[in-house]
Parts: sequence; structure tokens; C-alpha cells
Amino acid sequence: MGITICAKHGRVPFVETCGHVAQQIEQRTAPTGRQLTILGHLFVCDACFEQLGFDRFASLAEMPFEDAIDVDDGRWQLYDSAYDRLEGRTTFCLDCFRDLSPNRDP
Ligand SMILES: [Zn+2]
Ligand SMILES: [Zn+2]
Repeated sequence: MGITICAKHGRVPFVETCGHVAQQIEQRTAPTGRQLTILGHLFVCDACFEQLGFDRFASLAEMPFEDAIDVDDGRWQLYDSAYDRLEGRTTFCLDCFRDLSPNRDP
């Protein structure tokens, strides 16, 4: 899992978002979208989730990592290409992100 340094929280895990969610966070509004934990925390808006076909590999997020890493049916390739096409990818401190979305548990 990725670690980042936050001015407020110190050394913490980070969440990676698409540019649209990043904008919501920068405006200090609670982000809306879908959260996935695949190789780290990912949070994308509904439009990116649908356009990039996240539903085709979202099941990886539901598996224990030791099992997911052995998956060999193309889902990792789909993940890689969707991740690469995610526009304006930005990382945020996970604690700051949680401060903005109190009802979520990424
Ligand atoms: Zn988006
Ligand atoms: Zn922070």
C-alpha cells in the first residue's frame, strides 16, 4: 500500500482519485463515487467507473489480496488499462479524505 506524508497527519496511507473527485475534495465537499481497494485505495466518480469499465474488474477488490494476485483471466489487464486512462489522477492523504467523507470507510 502506498504511503504519503501529510502536513496534518504525518506518514499515512493515501487514496488515489480521478480528477473529478479531486476537484470535489479541493472544494472541501464530500466526494461522491465508488471506492475500490485494489493494490491500494482508489476512489473514482460514477462516470469514470462506468466509462472505464471498472465493473469488469471490481471483483478483484472483494477478494483477499493473496487470491487476487493469482487471478489470470485478464482482469488485471483491464485494471491496468483503466488505471492508465483515469484522468487527472491525484493522491490524497487517507485521513484527510476520511475527514471529508465521515460516513465512508475507504
Ligand atoms: Zn471521474
Ligand atoms: Zn492528512
